[in-house]
Amino acid sequence: MADPRRQVPRTDVLLAAPELRSGIAHLGRAVVKGIIRDAQERARRGEIAPGEVLAEVRRTLPGTASSLQPVINATGIIVHTNLGRAPLSAAAVDAVVTAAGNTDVEFDLSSGTRARRGRGAREALLAAVPEAGDAHVVNNNAAALALAALALAQGREIVISRGELVAIGDGFRLPELMESTGARLREVGTTNRTTLDDYASAVGENTAFVLKVHPSNFAVTGFVQSVDAAALSALDVPLVVDVGSGLLRRDSALPREPDVRSTLRAGAALVTASGDKLLGGPQAGLIFGDAALVQRLARHPLARALRTDKLTLAALEATVCGPRPPVSQALHAQLADLRARADDMAAQLREAEPNVGVVDSTAMVGGGGAPEEVLPSVALSLPERYGPALRLGTPPIVGRVSDRRCLLDLRTIDPLRDHQVVLAVRGAS
Ligand SMILES: *Cc1c(COP(=O)(O)O)cnc(C)c1O
Repeated sequence: MADPRRQVPRTDVLLAAPELRSGIAHLGRAVVKGIIRDAQERARRGEIAPGEVLAEVRRTLPGTASSLQPVINATGIIVHTNLGRAPLSAAAVDAVVTAAGNTDVEFDLSSGTRARRGRGAREALLAAVPEAGDAHVVNNNAAALALAALALAQGREIVISRGELVAIGDGFRLPELMESTGARLREVGTTNRTTLDDYASAVGENTAFVLKVHPSNFAVTGFVQSVDAAALSALDVPLVVDVGSGLLRRDSALPREPDVRSTLRAGAALVTASGDKLLGGPQAGLIFGDAALVQRLARHPLARALRTDKLTLAALEATVCGPRPPVSQALHAQLADLRARADDMAAQLREAEPNVGVVDSTAMVGGGGAPEEVLPSVALSLPERYGPALRLGTPPIVGRVSDRRCLLDLRTIDPLRDHQVVLAVRGAS
């Protein structure tokens, strides 16, 4: 018998195949070559016939030249950091695609001269937060806090409660971040209780600002006390507040979550937040507040190193001005609607998988927001084996396993994707 290795089509022959021409134009030779290697390897192992290599390559060509795959979030965790936090609205996606080429991000078309970078996003933020004297956008909230410390507190002190020296996700430890800028932290109070007197007696000549940080991913209960922004703003130094999740105004679904507008009204000099949590936009750090302070941050030499790219600016502006983003839709979805969708999907699946059910579920905000808030939800319930099968499908669907069942939570699934989920479950049955 002929050595199957000798029958496997050669790479250069495959790369020259007319069937792969558009794939190469779309994805580049290197990506297609990688796919060819995988298919050749499978043929050498005898998993596919040598004659099937070309068809296998065509079948497995990815949709884009990036290895990032679109995933359906069925976890019930609305802002899932491992799944890319907030999904962008269709309006924000369009804005990204439009801005991807050459664009007037820093150019005034009417005068033909240089213009302020990101003015559209800034104006949108200021219109949404009229309490702010100015606004500035950086890479993420960590960058916003670092910039505040760099511009205002180098060699000086930041007064902060011991209950707010938080760690968030991978690599964000607030005390280390702030101290890395050359600022000193002056810790006051205790883990569970800090009073206004604790702050007042620590504030002195060397204080740059008081920092208040929202405990966005944990809750301390029991014998606890903290000081709100209104009381802290009465002290004789600027108050900087990190609200975390990026709600610009109060949200009825999350009554305990702080928002930018209320915090400025309470007297904060600066407020920082993330763009890709509850705001529902791209990764960004938002800085609002007193115009002179915002300008000091924006003009600091390191601000240039933290500058946002045009794609982010486009998505941010469209998120703030455009229709309600998916995060907000998920937060406000009505339980009856979730149940109707789940019943409908279960009915379409019963033939392929008799063991499908519809169960009550609980969704969460996740990703640094409202740790105590549980949102009632509804899930499709499937046998446990669907967990890995759906995760490895195209597109991958990530649910959660509970009591040996695979749950697909409707609150985080875009209703426009329900049919895709039905097809995927049928395919895995
Ligand atoms: C999420 C969060 C951060 C970190 O924000 P990034 O945008 O991820 O840098 C900082 N502070 C609080 C309170 C947060 O919730």
